[in-house]
Amino acid sequence: MARSRADWEALARELRPEARALINGEFRQARDGRTFDTISPIDGRLIAAVARCDAADIDDAVTAARASFETGHWRQMEPPERKRILLRFAEQVRADLEHLALLETLDVGKPIQDSLASDVPSTANCIAYYAEFADKLYDEIAPTGPKDLALIRREPLGVIGAIIPWNYPLVIAAWKLGPALLAGNSVVLKPAEQSPLGAIRLGELALQAGVPPGVLNVVPGYGEEAGQALARHPDVDMVTFTGSTQVGKLMMRYAGDSNLKRVALELGGKSPQIVLRDADLGAAATDIAWAIFYNQGESCNAGSRLICDAGIKSELLAEVKRVAATITLGHPLDPSTKMGALIDAGHMQRVLGYIDTGLREGAELALGGRQALRESGGCYVEATILDRVKPSTRVAREEIFGPVLAVTEARDESEALRLANDSIFGLAAAVWTRDMDAAHRVSNALRAGTVWVNTYFKSAMTTPFGGFRQSGFGRDRSPHAIEKYTDLKTIWTTYR
Ligand code: NAD
Repeated sequence: MARSRADWEALARELRPEARALINGEFRQARDGRTFDTISPIDGRLIAAVARCDAADIDDAVTAARASFETGHWRQMEPPERKRILLRFAEQVRADLEHLALLETLDVGKPIQDSLASDVPSTANCIAYYAEFADKLYDEIAPTGPKDLALIRREPLGVIGAIIPWNYPLVIAAWKLGPALLAGNSVVLKPAEQSPLGAIRLGELALQAGVPPGVLNVVPGYGEEAGQALARHPDVDMVTFTGSTQVGKLMMRYAGDSNLKRVALELGGKSPQIVLRDADLGAAATDIAWAIFYNQGESCNAGSRLICDAGIKSELLAEVKRVAATITLGHPLDPSTKMGALIDAGHMQRVLGYIDTGLREGAELALGGRQALRESGGCYVEATILDRVKPSTRVAREEIFGPVLAVTEARDESEALRLANDSIFGLAAAVWTRDMDAAHRVSNALRAGTVWVNTYFKSAMTTPFGGFRQSGFGRDRSPHAIEKYTDLKTIWTTYR
């Protein structure tokens, strides 16, 4: 039977999450014993005091990862065995559904129903998806003359530093761990300081599933301490990063200043949705509302800009508002809640500050705009729509990362396209039209890693995820993700 809010609150009270670092198969405090508090944005409660790891702990984790790589226990394991262990890891995640979902919801404030139905199952599916490649990927033999044999082999890179954000902590961890571990690498995972608990639990489940000690290390800590130490470490072969564009730029600097480690970046977005005059407005309105309000707008690929044909704007906005009214803002442990808390008080103030900025810049408030559920002690902002947003203003150009939709009118298809592409970002985009020629023209011309036609947020493990421009480079998900965790080696043999 489905649990009630009271059930979840009782479970939350009893929860004693593991909050230490996992290094070389053992849980331990930071070397200097320091901790930081992880506070729930639901109501400001303290969830746990977490090991505040810094450069010394990162160095221990990298040393353990390197040693595990060199022994070859993981990298040279028979492929069916590595597959079995990763599939067991995925099963452990599935079996831990309620515990992981509760950790995730308490840590980041997303609705428990989303954690249960989406975040945890997607995490398990991702690990299982990559596990299956272990005994199905073949290397190549290049064309040569008859006296030569040229093998082209894919080899793991070595030690991978994975640095991840707080908006989908479990899912994004899995997007890194699945392909990196499948390929035989060892990993040091640094979760965001706002959301360390799910990642630590994942490390524990991997160990229980048989991933050898040292192959997956989880080191919580602040970005500027643990994160920077990992990205600058001379014995890390690659940093795979998801986070803001600003910190993504630092990653490239750290790599250049240290050992030229490889860098893969999944960064921010300001994704446009173009609605042309002939679109199915009912379908468009539903997806437009969910595209910005799902996960409280804290999605890198949120559809945060609506670029709408002037002739249909008022009809469309009325529909979007109608759908928004069904996306209930509430306590995240209430199973009927569809929009929960923002990650912390600082971020909430930042989002509210953007709404003020937009209004000062001349936008009109069409929905919401205020802090909500103040009495809870948590961090809630109403679903918000800013209309008549000028394309040159900050709310049209900067990533707000909250439930704020910026609406701009366009005269015709070509103006809509020009406005959509006028951005430093290029993560995702959508076009709504019944005209297949227009759909083809616009989707070809949009500069984004994913372009949706008459839908939004549809995705699967089978399709790559990532951005153009300052939304980053490198792709998560799909077989392509494996490429970035491996390198090609040519072995040329001549027969005499
Ligand atoms: P952030 O860049 O502030 O932090 C991300 C990670 O980097 C955290 O683990 C943090 O501790 C670490 N970090 C911060 N400063 C660092 C430093 N100086 N050196 C090393 N590490 C450092 O991002 P955030 O606020 O956690 O997440 C929100 C951002 O992530 C948004 O911009 C969002 O669009 C982006 N994001 C992108 C994708 C994608 O796939 N493209 C997915 C999710 C989130």
